[in-house]
Amino acid sequence: MYSKFVRNVGIPLYCFAVRNPTFKYLRELTKSQWFSSGEIQRIQERKLRRLIIHAYESVPYYRRTFRENKLKSCDIKNLQDLVKLPILSRNKVRDEFDVLLSGSYSRKKMRYGCTGGSTGEPINFCTSTDNRHWSTAARYLAWQWAGFEVGDKFAQVFGLHLDRPTFQSVKGKIDGKVKRRISIDAYHMSQSALQKFVKKIKTAKPKILYGTAASVANLAKYIHDKGIARFHLKSVIIDSMNLFEGEVKLIEKVFGCRVWWNYHNRENGTFASECSEHNGYHLFSQNFVFEFIKKGEEVAPGEIGSIVVTDLTNFAMPFIRYEVGDLGVPSDDVCACGRGMPLMRKLIGRTADVFVSATGEFITAPLFGHFQHVVQKLDIRQYQIVQETPTRTIVRIIPGQRYSSKDTQTIRKIMRSLMGNMQIDVKLVDSIALSSSGKRQVKVRKFPITFA
Ligand SMILES: [Zn+2]
Repeated sequence: MYSKFVRNVGIPLYCFAVRNPTFKYLRELTKSQWFSSGEIQRIQERKLRRLIIHAYESVPYYRRTFRENKLKSCDIKNLQDLVKLPILSRNKVRDEFDVLLSGSYSRKKMRYGCTGGSTGEPINFCTSTDNRHWSTAARYLAWQWAGFEVGDKFAQVFGLHLDRPTFQSVKGKIDGKVKRRISIDAYHMSQSALQKFVKKIKTAKPKILYGTAASVANLAKYIHDKGIARFHLKSVIIDSMNLFEGEVKLIEKVFGCRVWWNYHNRENGTFASECSEHNGYHLFSQNFVFEFIKKGEEVAPGEIGSIVVTDLTNFAMPFIRYEVGDLGVPSDDVCACGRGMPLMRKLIGRTADVFVSATGEFITAPLFGHFQHVVQKLDIRQYQIVQETPTRTIVRIIPGQRYSSKDTQTIRKIMRSLMGNMQIDVKLVDSIALSSSGKRQVKVRKFPITFA
């Protein structure tokens, strides 16, 4: 009853007062999700033409890029024409930040941000407020697929330290109250913070829990280890990727519901989400053009490609053919739910986490599941796998007291079955250095691989 009131009266009034078009966009997405793929493509091309003209006329980087490639804005009319433009790498965003900003977009309306650095070095970026509203609208629609309705209470486990100014501002606090959000900072999940948060979930009884994979797994483990009574949520929506099967099972057991996968990044927003068919990710093509690229070519459905997006709603700092740093598998399947939004069959992982086997195959995160499974059974305090070169990999181990040379042989054997015939060195060490940003890195690849 109260949820209904918040949904139909509270939130619309609040959005009207702060001139927030999120719910207008949500209505548009709610309608267009059922459009045919051809109709969705027409939306994309209409938005793309606007973006290209804007970038050509007001963004110094694109003005130069068009000139260098002997192009005019009228040369990019449809999705097929996009390949005429080069790919925008993360390094380019870092190096060319100033000239990627639009000269005609109001600086006051620009929202500055920084990535968390899980895909290598962090980058600074800038978005338009409108882009954030589209992203929130897409996220709400994805949550609706998982049983949430706007106005329901929700719990959020997120990297709030990056968003602290927004969350702690008066506006942020009011926003949280109106939208009935309870949250915990994923980067400061101390025992006492977890205890407080679990208590909050118990009292507030949110309908869904939303968060990044590792932090939700961390929360579930805490609840399980403490023997706290299980919850009965409608759904747990997990952003990003890379959980081991055992962790997903634990989350589902602890929260008494199914895990739904969602895909987003900080600089562009909500990319894709699962529907109730759990048949892969529906791509929000109303807001993005997606490409899956390997060595300059679009891969066939079912093959792994580097995800390249053109963000159709960010006019502050246009991201055109931006290589996100993730690998995915496109699909040409039509989903049984009837939505026309295209599917991505799988999200494979970060390009930075990928190793290369002796025969040149990409070894992606899920393939390390078996390694993780075996390592958990051995007396190992910590480990790190470093692929130094395409033909040499080092496994550093901080052994426990019961660790023996037989365990070293086991590790070498598993690594060889994963990586193929290459040099595998297992080194027993006292400590493992942290990365420059202070994080523990389990897997490190020391040479570049070109995906897109
Ligand atoms: Zn579907």
